[in-house]
Amino acid sequence: VQTSLDAVLSHARAEAPHTYSPDGEKPVRAALVALVRNSDLFGLRLAMRQVEDRFNSRHNYPYIFVNDEPFTDEFKRGVRDMTRARVQFGSLDHDSWKIPEWIDPDRYARVKREARYPHGEKDSYRKMCRFQAGFLHRHPLLKDLDYYWRIEPDVEYYCNIDYDPFVYMKQRGLKYGWNIAMSEFMDTVPTLWNTTRRFIAEHPHMLAPANMQRWLEDGRGGYNGCHFWSNFEIVDLSFYRSPEYQAYFDYLDRAGGFFYERWGDAPVHSIAAALLLNASQVHYFADIGYYHPSVVSCPAGARTRGSCVCDDSKSFVQNSHCAVLYKHVRQSIVDPAATEPAHV
Ligand code: GDP
Ligand code: MN
Repeated sequence: VQTSLDAVLSHARAEAPHTYSPDGEKPVRAALVALVRNSDLFGLRLAMRQVEDRFNSRHNYPYIFVNDEPFTDEFKRGVRDMTRARVQFGSLDHDSWKIPEWIDPDRYARVKREARYPHGEKDSYRKMCRFQAGFLHRHPLLKDLDYYWRIEPDVEYYCNIDYDPFVYMKQRGLKYGWNIAMSEFMDTVPTLWNTTRRFIAEHPHMLAPANMQRWLEDGRGGYNGCHFWSNFEIVDLSFYRSPEYQAYFDYLDRAGGFFYERWGDAPVHSIAAALLLNASQVHYFADIGYYHPSVVSCPAGARTRGSCVCDDSKSFVQNSHCAVLYKHVRQSIVDPAATEPAHV
């Protein structure tokens, strides 16, 4: 059975229309990128099927997958079967996947024992967050990319994406695109905000002039927990490669909160986007119907028209406190004349 499936697949590839050009010139140097485990194969195939059907089968942007362990042949085959685009597999260097030597083992062991939040006992989740915050964009396989679009196992795309989000961002000078904004478990980031404030106090010139700091503040000098979910993000990588972002990441890494707490790459990316970018460089892809386990983001009206297969009457995330606050803060900066008084 396997042999005949192979025969069908290779025949299908040979018969592919002439628009198939995995190595052809693209309007943007971009890729779909994920850190994944071999055990994620099924969930990743599910996600890729939808990325392909809803968008990428018309563009053939390459995929790049990286892993702290060697990918199995089964994984590589299973992934390649989902797309005609180029797929590359990479491994990680030790420095990007380690507990740094400045982390005190006793203090860290106590933290893991006492942590009462999801993944609180795990080394791997913390290494994953640190890697995605500080190292993924510097991976050698991403060297020639100008943009990446992060995907994850088990995510779904509910609607056709009838334009190219990379081109959309490039034409408008957008640096960070997001889809879901939520409030963080504050137990995972108790000192992230104070550490960030120290960083800013020491590097005040790094703040963007028209930044969205107000989107992060709780009104009492603290962090309100608002962040973009980084499992979907489309990013102009010059942002993460900037000296400002690198300095911020290094400062956080030295402070140890990726391990002594459980700082996620999502709040780190988001705080950086809100402080180091101008509001006009951040974009809400509210039109992209998206699911990550437990959260549906379904565009308004999608239930009864268009190509979507999601129910917007059951999708609340567009009206999450953090999404509403974002819209208000961004508009007050980008288009103050059109801004109504805040009721958020
Ligand atoms: P959540 O979205 O915060 O619940 O975290 P996930 O479990 O979805 O992990 C985020 C991403 O990192 C997914 O793409 C996972 O496949 C990947 N990931 C998480 N832990 C590891 C790990 O230990 N090794 C590798 N290679 N990937 C990981
Ligand atoms: Mn996930």
